[in-house]
Amino acid sequence: PETITVQELANRMAERGADLVKALFKMGSPVTLTQTIDQDTAELLVTEFGHNIKRVSESDVDIDTSADVDAAESLQPRPPVVTIMGHVDHGKTSLLDAIRGAAVVSGEAGGITQHIGAYQVSLPDKSKVTFLDTPGHEAFSEMRARGANVTDIVVLVVAADDGLKPQTVEAINHTKAAGVPMIIAINKIDKPEARPQRVREELLQHEIVVEQLGGDVQDVEVSALQKTNLDGLLNAIHLQAEILELKANPDRASEATVIESKLDKGRGPLATVLVQRGTLRVGDVFVAGAQSGKVRALTDDKGRQVKEAGPAMPVEVLGLSAVPSAGDPFTVVENEARAREVAAYRQSVLDRKRTTAAPVSLENMFASKA
Ligand code: GDP
Ligand code: MG
Repeated sequence: PETITVQELANRMAERGADLVKALFKMGSPVTLTQTIDQDTAELLVTEFGHNIKRVSESDVDIDTSADVDAAESLQPRPPVVTIMGHVDHGKTSLLDAIRGAAVVSGEAGGITQHIGAYQVSLPDKSKVTFLDTPGHEAFSEMRARGANVTDIVVLVVAADDGLKPQTVEAINHTKAAGVPMIIAINKIDKPEARPQRVREELLQHEIVVEQLGGDVQDVEVSALQKTNLDGLLNAIHLQAEILELKANPDRASEATVIESKLDKGRGPLATVLVQRGTLRVGDVFVAGAQSGKVRALTDDKGRQVKEAGPAMPVEVLGLSAVPSAGDPFTVVENEARAREVAAYRQSVLDRKRTTAAPVSLENMFASKA
């Protein structure tokens, strides 16, 4: 009988493996990403994902490609997408900057590095890693609440002189809830007060057993300030990505997720999207949330104009009619009529929600600020 690993099926559906594992668990079959399931279970899972997200009656006016499975032969390896989380001041920004800075020094980035909410670095073996440049568990959990699970790996930063703090624990809980594998970066190892072993022991209280203590969660000692052992961290990410066997079909109409957006004075609405599958090209017609548009230009994380972007590549898109929200799905469609139809439908759903929302009273205004 035909079997398939959970991760392979996830690759073919362009879903996250962890989400399939959770669905399988709910269906009464606890399995891990690398275990195989039979064809019946795989089919059940595909329909499960297809029907969960969109009711059948909406399929004419909206897009649902969640049950659209790519053929095994069409899959190509893709870079992992990494989010850095941790307590405030433990060094998330410094680490992101140090990793990007190392890439700049090695001559990879040509001149201006512009902030588009994500960047890619190349490893010595030419493979790439995508970092989401919007650290913090808020962005992570908000995207997740909107059904946009783009992160494959979480790097949890813990300052070696400070140990586990409330936001570290929150980050651990979010990561566990999302079923995303974690790598521990024990930072500020340059400080005389650094006590990395204490960090490892504190993690035990949260059922995280790092490799140094005989577990299977990778732990890496780094100093973002002195740029110590950044390649050790990148190696750990590379290893974790290999275990996940991340793949996507680059040869199809593109599906992406909005990770950041803004209104630029000169250029108008801009969105940084992360491609999930397919290849996004200049000239493509798309729907982004309740907006439609046509790609007029694509800019990469080094500020260069590019013609296309493949899986796990972040690009800034010019050609939107309005600013979409982070977490919005960004989907290429056949033509502008279709794009307008879908956008109009989604706008009507939003309008309906807005008019039925509870009126704002003084009381709940203050409550929501708290
Ligand atoms: P974030 O709030 O997690 O983004 O933390 P930041 O990256 O802003 O860092 C907070 C402070 O810690 C800054 O003053 C950094 O210079 C300092 N810092 C970050 N990494 C290191 C490190 O590896 N060693 C030392 N000594 N200081 C660091
Ligand atoms: Mg920061």
